[in-house]
Amino acid sequence: MEKYRQALMQNIQKQLADWMNQSKKVSQQEIYRFLHSIQGTAATIGLEEIYRISSRVMEELDEDNEQAWEIDQVQHLLHELIITCYRNIQEKVLFEPSPVVTSNTNIPEILLIDDDLTLLMFLKEELEKQGWHVFATADPEKAISIFYDYQPDCVIVDLYLKEKTGLGVLSILNHKLNKQFIPQIMISVNNSKEVRMKSYELGADDFIAKPFDMSEFIIRVKRQLERKALVDRLVLIDELSGVYSRKHLKDSFERLCNESYRNETSFCLAILDLDHFKDINDQYGHLVGDEVIKEFASYLNKFSRKNDTVFRYGGEEFVLLIPNTQVDHAENILERLLEGFSSKEFTEDHKTFNVTFSAGVVEINDANIELEYWVKTADAALYNAKQSGRNQIKRWDRKLRKTPKRVIKAAIVDDDPIIRSIMLEVLKKITEEGSITIEASPFKSGNELFEKEWHKTESSGLIILDGVMPDIDGIEVLKRIRAMEHQDRFTVLMLTARKSEKDISQALQLGADDYVAKPFNIHVIEDRIKRLIRKLK
Ligand code: GH3
Ligand code: MG
Ligand code: MG
Repeated sequence: MEKYRQALMQNIQKQLADWMNQSKKVSQQEIYRFLHSIQGTAATIGLEEIYRISSRVMEELDEDNEQAWEIDQVQHLLHELIITCYRNIQEKVLFEPSPVVTSNTNIPEILLIDDDLTLLMFLKEELEKQGWHVFATADPEKAISIFYDYQPDCVIVDLYLKEKTGLGVLSILNHKLNKQFIPQIMISVNNSKEVRMKSYELGADDFIAKPFDMSEFIIRVKRQLERKALVDRLVLIDELSGVYSRKHLKDSFERLCNESYRNETSFCLAILDLDHFKDINDQYGHLVGDEVIKEFASYLNKFSRKNDTVFRYGGEEFVLLIPNTQVDHAENILERLLEGFSSKEFTEDHKTFNVTFSAGVVEINDANIELEYWVKTADAALYNAKQSGRNQIKRWDRKLRKTPKRVIKAAIVDDDPIIRSIMLEVLKKITEEGSITIEASPFKSGNELFEKEWHKTESSGLIILDGVMPDIDGIEVLKRIRAMEHQDRFTVLMLTARKSEKDISQALQLGADDYVAKPFNIHVIEDRIKRLIRKLK
């Protein structure tokens, strides 16, 4: 019986693949007949789920209708069948509950830096089993950009990295880590007293010599993460910018709500985001970027009115609470701040430059609506300001409800049409849930990706890349992408063959941002994608 089941599965998969690979339309009749035949066989050989799904889909179709369907309509119609087949073929791993709770935004994130790729992969896997997120890289430069993009809760670094030593990377990160109370754990094969002392001198919170006992390692990492969580709760002033940290926003907001309710006044909330800040980092380095953020914060503090409060909301994003003020006036205040700040000159390397920002502002006139809503509306206005050319202030109004959400481009490059179809659905789901639109394009091969020139897009984007493909394989595609100018605008998630150490280590070496082994769990994929697109937003 098993033999027949497998044969049926393969037939279904083949038919679906044929349809999806030929880009011409498929008639309803054809789909109906296909479903009819698998329905019969499925019932006979005990594949009840397949029987049920195909019967249900058939009810939506008309046997004699010759109307032709676009391939993505077909894909949508047969989605459940596709997933079920995939699950049957791929040893039921697809829907196993994921060890990671996806909705929890407080999952600790760890940056792991080690040039021993085998150990890197192994540690990533072990740490992720704890439900933590791990950004793993062997490349010190990449480590620094991950650090700035994702702000991890703990950094684990190998002392001897090939290009620069761990000490070298850490001396750049070190200062920040210490000041932000981000725990740093150093690992090394060298357990000499000198190395240990040097590590502690540099601010390491723990030193663990290799080879180490995994259960002890996990406990020591856990302890550091707990410490970080405690510090996060206690510290209310953002270290870099000297203004209130984001955690303080809710309290202040609620206080203002009560006050404005009592006094029957309204107040405003604005989100300010520096324009093209990535370029500043790229051109002058992250330390100069830090200085600009610091200057921006102190400018806001100094030139906003006495009762206005400044919060650091994200990397280069600030929130301003403006009490007792209506939106017209708030807009004026912001205009004035923009004018002042943008005329400020920064000097670096004998070059001078100016920095602008964009802002979205909303008037809070209903004390019963919660903070999240107002942040979202101000953010929509901010997006509108960015879209309208940056360096300006926009206010929220109802019309913005209909404006398109932030768009992220995504390419799915996989020769397996079933995987392409599943990925499309996952991206669609993320779009439906969140505040962003993911514009996904599937590609059958690396060649197709390059021929259609998707990679020439100016904007940043996500690439979900199959490691093994017939013409140019994923590793080669990755190599080409990473050799391009401004390649770092692409975030790459590799799909590797199950636990293939060679594939994974190559992918990491060539600058993949993360990897997932096939066959994958759909929740894990969803979670990874959400995490990766955070920095693309
Ligand atoms: P846009 O005008 O659309 O806002 O363009 P942008 O380049 O500013 O884009 P975006 O807001 O997406 O990028 C913000 C960048 O800021 C990404 C991140 O690497 C960097 N960043 C975040 N926090 C810090 C920080 O504390 N210091 C430095 N130097 N850079 C940071
Ligand atoms: Mg930003
Ligand atoms: Mg910005």
